[in-house]
Amino acid sequence: MTDRLDHLGIPALINATGTVTRLGASRLDPEVIAAMAAAAQCSVDIAELQAHACKVIAGVTGAEAGIVTAGASAALLVGAAACMTGLDPVKMSQLPDTTGMRNEFVICRSQRNSYDHAVRAAGGRLVEVGLPDRLTGCGVRDTEAWEIAAAIGERTAGILYLARDDSRPELAAVVRVARQANVPVLVDAAAELPPAHNLRRFIEAGADLVAFSGGKSLGGPSASGILCGRRRLVGAALLQQLDLDYVSEDWEPPVALVDKRELPGVPRHGIGRSCKVGKEQIAGLITALLRFVGGSDEERNERHRIVVDSLVEMLTPLRGLRVSKIEDAGHGGLPLVAVTVIVAKGSLSARQLATRLRSRTPSIHVDSTNADIGTLILTPTCLAPVDAQPIAAAFAAELARPLPLHA
Ligand SMILES: *Cc1c(COP(=O)(O)O)cnc(C)c1O
Repeated sequence: MTDRLDHLGIPALINATGTVTRLGASRLDPEVIAAMAAAAQCSVDIAELQAHACKVIAGVTGAEAGIVTAGASAALLVGAAACMTGLDPVKMSQLPDTTGMRNEFVICRSQRNSYDHAVRAAGGRLVEVGLPDRLTGCGVRDTEAWEIAAAIGERTAGILYLARDDSRPELAAVVRVARQANVPVLVDAAAELPPAHNLRRFIEAGADLVAFSGGKSLGGPSASGILCGRRRLVGAALLQQLDLDYVSEDWEPPVALVDKRELPGVPRHGIGRSCKVGKEQIAGLITALLRFVGGSDEERNERHRIVVDSLVEMLTPLRGLRVSKIEDAGHGGLPLVAVTVIVAKGSLSARQLATRLRSRTPSIHVDSTNADIGTLILTPTCLAPVDAQPIAAAFAAELARPLPLHA
């Protein structure tokens, strides 16, 4: 779909990279768009809307509570804030200054990533432990649970855990250590859907807070996410994200999330006020979430397979490519297309081909993470069946266009 932004004069593109934020994240189902449009046209109490979201999120995740955030990164920010402040409004006002507060988050060195900035933005300090020998090729081990245990002290606010298929130690082992020390585990599961059963998996393993992205495979708005987990922590996170311009007599926070009697007064605007969530995001996320759990991974993969199969069929005859279908790239059986560029004398490299595809009109974006080893990946999650033909035509045209002569 490339024509929808014409009225703004902005060129849309064909996204074979996947639901990445930089390319606009997921493409919304009409039902999600309708929910957002309906919300956009009415006034609604945001806290009440969050209480409704809480019921839905708790139902599908098995968590005590959940809220809609402005993305998984925002969920990590308000979740980390909640781990540091609890329900203390004085501490909430003080962030990101953490003087006198627990502010350390223990993290396995192999799990450090660009998104942990969110925890630091809230005032958290990351305490890295262990060595990722298995990843550097220098050994076989990663951080072990006893190393996490040894790093927990008086200043520890929580453990930050990045959930990936190959994350070590296993979450359950980290939870055991955390329980012993009575500190919460905050899980970044932003990109771990599908499989749909991952909505429950980390909560079942004992995580205290879990962050999911709404704009990836959930099919929600790009600026939406979920934070779910223990009620007190989720409530503390919500308080730091809401607009709280109330005199105390008028303030009735949703009982499903916050017990007003536990607070000495109405907290000031918190650190999460800068990542506020609009009614459109909440309505869109809830609708997308219900659609996601109402469907199945198999059904979604079947739809993706149609696009993948036509891409494979159209790209395979092209000279200079070796095309293969990856039947199950993880994520609940997602199919992909891997295109290896056969480099011959005077032919394009994979990276040059990706660059050329991007500079066409419409621009075509493929996943070039592995371009340096000659492979481009085409991910179907943001593609419609009609996109296969223009993609294949663009590959054909660029492969046929000679390289400029070098001096
Ligand atoms: C995508 C991603 C995020 C950020 O998610 P948003 O919803 O875009 O804020 C955080 N952590 C990981 C591991 C991710 O892949």
